[in-house]
Formats: sequence, C-alpha cells, structure tokens
Amino acid sequence: MGIPSLTFRAWYEASFGVQAWEELDKIPTLMWQDYLIWLRRVLNSPVRNGVHLRDIAFHKDGLLTLTVQTGSVSETILCRRLVLATGRDGLGGGYTPSVIKEIPRKFWMHSSEKLDFSTLRNRHVTVIGAGASAMDNAATALEAGAARVDVLIRRKDLPRVNKFTGIGSMGVVHGFHALPDHWKWRFLDCVLSHQTPPPRSSVLRVSAHKNAFFHLDCELLSCSAHSDHVSITTSQGVLDTDFIISATGFNVDLSLRPELSSLAPHIRFWKDRFKPTAEDMPSGFENQELLNSPDLGDGFEFQEKKPGSCPLLHFVHCFCFPATLSHGKVSGDIPAISEGAERLTRHITQSFFVEDCAIHYQDLESYNDPELSGDEWMNTPLPAR
Ligand SMILES: Cc1cc2nc3c(=O)[nH]c(=O)nc-3n(C[C@H](O)[C@H](O)[C@H](O)COP(=O)(O)OP(=O)(O)OC[C@H]3O[C@@H](n4cnc5c(N)ncnc54)[C@H](O)[C@@H]3O)c2cc1C
Repeated sequence: MGIPSLTFRAWYEASFGVQAWEELDKIPTLMWQDYLIWLRRVLNSPVRNGVHLRDIAFHKDGLLTLTVQTGSVSETILCRRLVLATGRDGLGGGYTPSVIKEIPRKFWMHSSEKLDFSTLRNRHVTVIGAGASAMDNAATALEAGAARVDVLIRRKDLPRVNKFTGIGSMGVVHGFHALPDHWKWRFLDCVLSHQTPPPRSSVLRVSAHKNAFFHLDCELLSCSAHSDHVSITTSQGVLDTDFIISATGFNVDLSLRPELSSLAPHIRFWKDRFKPTAEDMPSGFENQELLNSPDLGDGFEFQEKKPGSCPLLHFVHCFCFPATLSHGKVSGDIPAISEGAERLTRHITQSFFVEDCAIHYQDLESYNDPELSGDEWMNTPLPAR
C-alpha cells in the first residue's frame, strides 16, 4: 500500500536492527509468518484462520453464497465478490508424472506435501526436478540424515538465468496486461521454456553434502515398485531408491478443487479461444500450462466459456498464480503482488460504484450539507450607468 513502515524490512529492522537486515539472506518461513501476524495486528485485519471454503453457490439476489467450514462447524456467508487468493496451486494441485503416481503411495510424495523428514534418515532418496522445491527438499532430506540423495534432472544443464525477473520494470508490471494475446503468450513461452533457476545458495546447500548427486540429461521413464524399494528407469540407466520426492511443479486441474465445482463447467480458459501459431511458440512446443490458464477479465474475474451461461462468475476473482498469462506476474510473487492487489481492488471499487450508481445518484440528490452559510457575501446591484 506504499506505506514504508509496513514493509517486512521496516518490521525486521525495528525488531533486530539495521545490521541484522544487512546480513539477512533469505527470510526464514516462520519469521515471515511472524511478520504477517504483526501486519494483521497493526492493520486490525479481520483474518480468520482454519476456515475452509467448501462450496460456492449463486444466491437469487445476485449474491454469492459461500459454504465454509471451521473444524466441524459449517456456516454460510453471503458476499458480493469473492477473491480466490489461493496460491501457487490455487486452481489445481501438485503435478506428479503418471509413472510415479502408479506406484504405491508409501514410496513417493509431491514436494509441496508435508513430510516428517526424520523418516528419511539412513534412506536413499531420489528427487525429481531442478527448481527451488527440488533443492529445498533435497537439502532438507540430506540435513535430516538421508543416506544418499540423487537429484534427477531432465535438462542437460540447470537453468541459470532468471529471465522474467531480469527484465523486471514498472513497464512489465503495469504493461503486460495490455499486451495483445500473442505477445503475452510469447513472453511466457520464453519464460517457461528457459525455466527459473533455483537459488544459488539452495544448490550449494545440496552440493555441500558428499552423499548428494546431480544427474543431468537424466529423464524419468518408468518406475517399478518392489517390497521395500523402487527401481527407476531413466534415460541414463536404472536407479534403485527407497523414496521419491516429485518436485515437478503445479498444474491447473479443477477436479482437484471441489470448492470450485459449481463454477468449473463455465470457466473460460485460454485453450477455449486462443490457438498459438508457430510464431507464438519459438520454443517449438504447445505449452499445456499456458493453454490451461484461466482467461481473466481486467479485474482478475473469471469469464464465461459461453456468454450468458453463468453471469455471476464475473464476481469471482482469480488472484492466484494461474492468472499470470492474463495479467503478468502480479498475483503470486512478492515483488509485484502489491500492484496486482491494487489493480484488483480498484476494479472491485469501480464495479461497486457502477452497480450502485442509482443509490449514489440518490445520495447526490439528497446531499445537503452546506459549505457556505450565506453570510459570507452581500448581493449588490450593478452600478447605475
Ligand atoms: C518452493 C517455492 C518457492 C517460492 N519462492 C518464492 C520466493 O522466493 N519469492 C516469491 O516472491 N515467491 C516465491 N514463491 C511463490 C509463492 O507461492 C508466493 O510468493 C506466495 O506464497 C504467494 O502468496 P499467496 O498468499 O498468494 O499464496 P499462498 O501463500 O500459497 O496462500 C494461499 C492460501 O490459500 C489457502 N487456501 C487454498 N484453498 C483454500 C480453500 N478452499 N479454503 C480456504 N483456504 C484455502 C491455502 O491454505 C493458503 O493458506 C515460491 C513458491 C514455491 C512453491
């Protein structure tokens, strides 16, 4: 909100000193939570924890009826707008290759799932992927005493250049949304085909261990489960392992989001109206992640696949990572999420005013609070000629 004293830096410097800020590398997760709790307190934000959205229904008055659950207690909330700020996997979940999903669950997990890493002590762990999640999980397994960690990387090299962050500017933040479709597509096709490098310090956190092994150009082909281990067939040969961590990203899959089931059939995706040409895909492959992006309006609102089929869909705003193709990187990553939030709230404010214009007009007509009392001047006839 442009208030410097509310930033993480201001909070951190006030709590731990300027010197500590200079020395800080990454913000520990729990400290980030401490900051958010402080922010909530000083802003007096009405945040409720432990509340699950279960269902969205359309109320006859043009309102949305939300069914939410807190513990075992269910309640309904009526609202005019709903903002889904549901994160990286907001419209789906973790993506795991089918060859892994076919083996028993005790042998694998997705990197975003919770795991007691002490259970990996003295075990042989294989991590699939080369992003930040892969490195964090590999390092945590090693630090928890894993006997050996193999990181299988499909590419011939680790991604080294952070393309989109590299060209970051206010132009990108505010201008991406105004680009014609094929330019939006080309920008993100380039970003995704180069991928985002894992942080250097995270890679070093893994490679510092003698029992950590990086295998490049090593594609996962199949897995077969035995009684106490899994054999992974790769393009480089076979590897036996005790446990697989699939750090293979996230995808849009509304079937994983039962709370959105009433909206799902109506939501328009890019694949419903945009067909990239060869020129739009210098990388040469039709990117499924982009095709599955929701096709959002100016205020991050969902749009209907078939116009008129579900008008209240426009009252649900998708302020999570899958909005990136429509709006740029303003709904997920910290650097520009404030600008995204401002775009969203301006749109909602504007649409409330437009919807309620008759009431505002009535207010205008009935408003009668004088700023002059009439004793400030005297009416004078024109001088005689
Ligand atoms: C491994 C990894 C590393 C990352 N590193 C960075 C980084 O260094 N810098 C950066 O800027 N970004 C990073 N990101 C991106 C990160 O996801 C975002 O910056 C940040 O977490 C987004 O905040 P958010 O509030 O939008 O989403 P989240 O923090 O994901 O919060 C979404 C919330 O929605 C809740 N929710 C979902 N469904 C429901 C439901 N039905 N009912 C109720 N609640 C629900 C979830 O429980 C969750 O609390 C990283 C992401 C990953 C996976």
